[in-house]
Amino acid sequence: MEHPENDQQYAALNVNEGVAQPPVINPYLQRRKKAALTVNDYVEGILKGNITILSRAVTLVESQAQEHQQLAQEVIEKCLPYAGKSRRIGITGVPGAGKSTSIDVFGLHVLKQGGKLAVLAIDPSSERTKGSILGDKTRMEKLSVEPNAFIRPSPSAGSLGGVARKTRETIVLCEAAGFDNIFVETVGVGQSETAVHSMVDFFLLIQLAGTGDELQGIKRGIMEMADGIVINKADGDNINRAQLAMAQFRNALHLFPLPPSGWTPEVLCYSGYYELGIPEVWDMIDRYFDFVHKNGYFNLRRQQQEKYWMYESIDETLKANFYNNSLIADMLKVKQQLILDSKQSSFMAAKDVLDVYFNLKEQ
Ligand code: GDP
Repeated sequence: MEHPENDQQYAALNVNEGVAQPPVINPYLQRRKKAALTVNDYVEGILKGNITILSRAVTLVESQAQEHQQLAQEVIEKCLPYAGKSRRIGITGVPGAGKSTSIDVFGLHVLKQGGKLAVLAIDPSSERTKGSILGDKTRMEKLSVEPNAFIRPSPSAGSLGGVARKTRETIVLCEAAGFDNIFVETVGVGQSETAVHSMVDFFLLIQLAGTGDELQGIKRGIMEMADGIVINKADGDNINRAQLAMAQFRNALHLFPLPPSGWTPEVLCYSGYYELGIPEVWDMIDRYFDFVHKNGYFNLRRQQQEKYWMYESIDETLKANFYNNSLIADMLKVKQQLILDSKQSSFMAAKDVLDVYFNLKEQ
């Protein structure tokens, strides 16, 4: 017998005829694995303003994988000639200041004048909180349904430097995709303002009227970075306090030296929630752009930022190359213990490790 398994006594082993499977009804199921795109596919898609391809390119930028990074860098290089034409506006404020509410209405105001708006974020804490608290679509309900708005949460992995670099690279991609307004949101509680300041043309600080001594709580450094300070929630019985805060900020700013832009930062009150005073805030920003375009500071600031990012990028790469070296990592562990045991000074330990590293590089 050719197929003994088909004998009645082995009934359970019967080889049945195949049954034709029904076709897949949902065509998207078949496309679960996305086809890999080439550099040119990405660049062409981005230049056409294709949001799906733009999103995929941003994911590439955010990826930690070496081959994605390589591809991302090539895409960015090719997009660079088409980038740079947007207004980049940084927006900061402590949690609860009303950033998302305000970005929602500022964004709609900007879109009413035409063009496209990208909302990006830098939130270095998002790795710890698992999932970004910033740039989240659900926090910007009105904007998230606008076809001309692109909202992207903060890249979540890595150091502040790394997160900031990715946002900066995303700006390039968005600009190449025709976004002529870019908002970069950050939480006003730490170093991230400096990172945002280093990639935007205008830096807006959202403040709240509080106990009357709000100036005490706010770091001088942030005040010095701001091109505009806006007091939010100037509505209901909070109006008087907001106006008082506005006067205090104006007085305080008089004590600061004139910033290199030559522009004296302005202070205004508004209400994001009740949509009061929004055009006034935007007029101020328009006036700033006119001012710095005329006096040449706009280009100067962008050039300084380019330089800053080159050095940042070198710093990041050098550090990663050093700390990711396994020999160095082992040696650091030993040296750390020697220092703790007071058997070697920290400077000598550092010198020893660096000597080994530099020798490795010379070989
Ligand atoms: P974020 O943490 O800075 O993004 O702040 P949100 O935009 O989430 O706002 C924090 C809270 O303040 C929310 O409950 C908002 O409804 C409220 N809020 C925001 N803007 C205003 C405003 O202009 N007036 C009033 N009264 N409340 C506001």
